[in-house]
Amino acid sequence: MNNLAEKDLKYIWHPCSQMKDYEELKPIVIERGEGVYLYDTEGKRYVDVISSWWCNLLGHCNPHISEELKKQAGKLEHVIFANFTHKQAIRLCERLSKILPEGLCKFNFTDNGSSAIEAAMKVSFQYHEQTGNPQKTRFMALSEAYHGETIGALSVGDCDLYTKLYKPILMDVIKIEGPDCYRCPYGKCRDNCNCECAQKAVETFAKYGDETCALLVEPLLQGSAGMKIYPPLYLKKLRELCDQYNVHLIADEIATGYGRTGKMFAFEHAGVSPDIMCLSKGLTGGYMPMALFVTTQKIYDAFYDDYGTGKAFMHSHTYSGNPLACSCANAVLDLMEDGTILKRAQENAIYFNNIIKEKFLSHPNVGEVRHIGLINAIELVKNKETKEPLDSSLRTGYQIYKKALKKGVILRPLGDVIYFNPPLIIERKDMDFVTDIALECLNEILSN
Ligand SMILES: *Cc1c(COP(=O)(O)O)cnc(C)c1O
Repeated sequence: MNNLAEKDLKYIWHPCSQMKDYEELKPIVIERGEGVYLYDTEGKRYVDVISSWWCNLLGHCNPHISEELKKQAGKLEHVIFANFTHKQAIRLCERLSKILPEGLCKFNFTDNGSSAIEAAMKVSFQYHEQTGNPQKTRFMALSEAYHGETIGALSVGDCDLYTKLYKPILMDVIKIEGPDCYRCPYGKCRDNCNCECAQKAVETFAKYGDETCALLVEPLLQGSAGMKIYPPLYLKKLRELCDQYNVHLIADEIATGYGRTGKMFAFEHAGVSPDIMCLSKGLTGGYMPMALFVTTQKIYDAFYDDYGTGKAFMHSHTYSGNPLACSCANAVLDLMEDGTILKRAQENAIYFNNIIKEKFLSHPNVGEVRHIGLINAIELVKNKETKEPLDSSLRTGYQIYKKALKKGVILRPLGDVIYFNPPLIIERKDMDFVTDIALECLNEILSN
C-alpha cells in the first residue's frame, strides 16, 4: 500500500466523496500528465476520459499553455483588479467578445464557476431593482439543473444528491419542469419533436414571470443530471418567454462552453443570445481556477452612474482577473482560434459516437446512448422496454468505475450513467481503448 495515499487520508477531506469509500479504494497519487494520459507514482497510466472534471480541454501539460503560463509567472503573478488592469485580461476579453454570441461584451471575473453564477444572479437582481422593477426578486431554473455548490448556486440547482439536505438554508427558487428526452412524457424523441415540453415553461412564466428577474439554464446539456441532452429549439422558446416577461436569460456554459458540444458555445446551436453567460472549466484549458460572466451593454448601462446613486456592482473576489489564469485563457484561444481543433473534434465525435453505439446499444442494460459533440453518455437501466432504472443502492456505476480504474481508464459515472467527456484532442486509438475497457467492465458487473 502506497505510503503517500495513507498520508493523504490522514489530512485530506476530498471533494464529493464519502471518505469511508477510501478504505477500500485509496486515493490514486498522480505524478504527471501528458495529453489525455495521467501517470501515478508507480508509473501506471490512466486515460483521463472525463477531462479531470470536464475542465481539461487540450490535454494535460499542453506545451503551449505551459510555456505561456511560465512566461507570465516571470512577469506578473497577480494585481488588484479594481482600478488596475493588465494586458492579459484586456487581450482575453477583446478576443472573446469577437467569438461570443452577439451582444455579449462586458466581462466580470471570478475564480470558480459557482461564484460566476452567484455574481450573475446578483447582477440580474440589481438590474431590475435599478430599472423600476423591484418586484422582480426571484429566480427560475429547470428541474434537475446543476449550477454549482455555493448556497446561491445550489438554490438554483435541483439534483437531490447535492441539494436536498440543504433545502432549509436555500432560496425559494421557481422550478420549471424541464425536458426529459429519454423518458419524454409526450412520447416524442429528441430529433423530431416540437419541444412540446416547453408548455410547462409557458405555464410557469404565466404564473411567476412578473416576480422573476432571471432564468438560469444549462444550454442543451444538463451535465450533472446524467448528461441529459435536449434540442436547441427549447432554448429558442425560453428566449421568447424571457423577452415577453422581461426576465434575463442566464446561460450557464461552464460545462458546455469551449467546443464541448461541437460549437464553441452551446448557445450557437440555437442562434439566440443569452443576456448573461457564465464560463469556467475549459476557459483556462483546465490549468487555473478562473471563471467569468459576460453580459450586454444594456445591463452594464443600468449600473453606470454617479457614485452617489449607489448603482455600482460592489461585488469582488480577491483573485478576480488573475494574470496567470488569463495567460492560460489566452493560450487556449491561441490554439483554438483557427478552428482546426474544433473541426477535428467534430469529425472525431461522429467516429466516437458510432463505435459507442456499435459496442453498447445491443447490451440488455443499455437504455440509451446519447451524444453531443465529443460527449457521449450511456444510460444503464434494469429494463430496456420500460426504461426502469437500476436499483441505485447497488451502485452499479461505481462498481464499473472501480473496475475501469484498475484497467487504466477514468470513467467516474454519474449514478448509473456512464459517460465520456474527453479532452478535445483525444485520438481514435484512445477512443477505441476506453470504449473497449468500459464495455468489458460493464459486462463483468452486469453479466446477465
Ligand atoms: C462545474 C459546474 C458549475 C460549478 O463550477 P465550479 O467551478 O465547480 O464551482 C456550474 N455549472 C455547471 C454547468 C458546471 O458544470
